[in-house]
Amino acid sequence: MEMTILYEVGESLYVNLTNHCPCACTFCLRQTRDHMENSGSLWLAHTPDLSEVLAEFAKFDMTRYREIVFCGFGEPMEALSVLLEVAKYCKAHYSQPIRINTNGLADLIHKKPVAPLLAGLIDTVSISLNTPNKDRYHELVRPKFGDISFDAMLQFAKDCTRYVPTVVLTTVATTLTEAEEEECRKICESIGAVYRIRPWVD
Ligand code: SF4
Repeated sequence: MEMTILYEVGESLYVNLTNHCPCACTFCLRQTRDHMENSGSLWLAHTPDLSEVLAEFAKFDMTRYREIVFCGFGEPMEALSVLLEVAKYCKAHYSQPIRINTNGLADLIHKKPVAPLLAGLIDTVSISLNTPNKDRYHELVRPKFGDISFDAMLQFAKDCTRYVPTVVLTTVATTLTEAEEEECRKICESIGAVYRIRPWVD
């Protein structure tokens, strides 16, 4: 069965490594759609191994893209070892910057600090902050790790600022009050991250 491991979004090439995710966000796009832009279905018949992912890269004209983004229909950090190997391959063969879009719970998934592993491989980590309120975060994101998740996500973000050139925390436009957005801005300032209010689908 054909699987969509790589797909285009605008001028970026997105990498869909896994459908696993430790969260059940109330707003997860996977509940209502199975693709993004012109991609095929992002539901994977199985989690691809490194050779399957690299075989897909060989089919794409990499000169057409400005960025490589680990995102897809799941949490890319669930596939950490393949992600790191793919990033290593991309750094060796291509010139585009590499971003990970993540829920920021990698340390809880892998039971160890993950940020140091990203050094030299990842240029931007974009983490879903969603809300400045811890209780609200857990209501919205419903992580399987429970109410330690918000603090673990912020700790991961802070750690990333030591190893990754750009760390971005995002919330979605129109979902927060101005006062809440101001709180998010302060959180970002306190950990040295960039705050970005992003459109609903990104
Ligand atoms: S973290 Fe992302 S993939 Fe996982 S449930 Fe939330 S929105 Fe969906």
